Amino acid sequence: MAKLQIRKIGDDVLRKHCRPVDEITPRIITLLDDMIETMRAADGCGLAAPQVGILRRIAVVEVEPGVVFELINPKIVAFSGEQEGREGCLSVPGRWGIVKRPLHVTVEATNRKGQVYQVTGHELLARAFCHEIEHLDGKLYIDSATSMDED
Ligand code: ZN
Repeated sequence: MAKLQIRKIGDDVLRKHCRPVDEITPRIITLLDDMIETMRAADGCGLAAPQVGILRRIAVVEVEPGVVFELINPKIVAFSGEQEGREGCLSVPGRWGIVKRPLHVTVEATNRKGQVYQVTGHELLARAFCHEIEHLDGKLYIDSATSMDED
């Protein structure tokens, strides 16, 4: 496994639309492993492929230590409720923003074995799913934050 360089705001790659993954190759598996290592080393709870310069629809989320969701071609298939809270991003270091998100979010994605699965997240996990999936369409949370703060 290798730690990857995290791209920071201002880098064009963060604003690009990512392509779907049509085949899970050894390269994709290595990327998933590297993204998990990079996310943990940076003390983050999620990381999307464009944040490491790869324009593919892949993200990893780990809100509860040890429980990692590998999201290949993820899409939100259901959501409900509303929450408002603080959000940060490894690509926007030292800043925080208040963002409105659904309280419950169901995501359909493929795992590294090629199996399609669904997972429903609540509260922080729902927020993380929304945040990471937005990265795949070149969106950053600062676009929808109602206020921003420095650390
Ligand atoms: Zn982010």
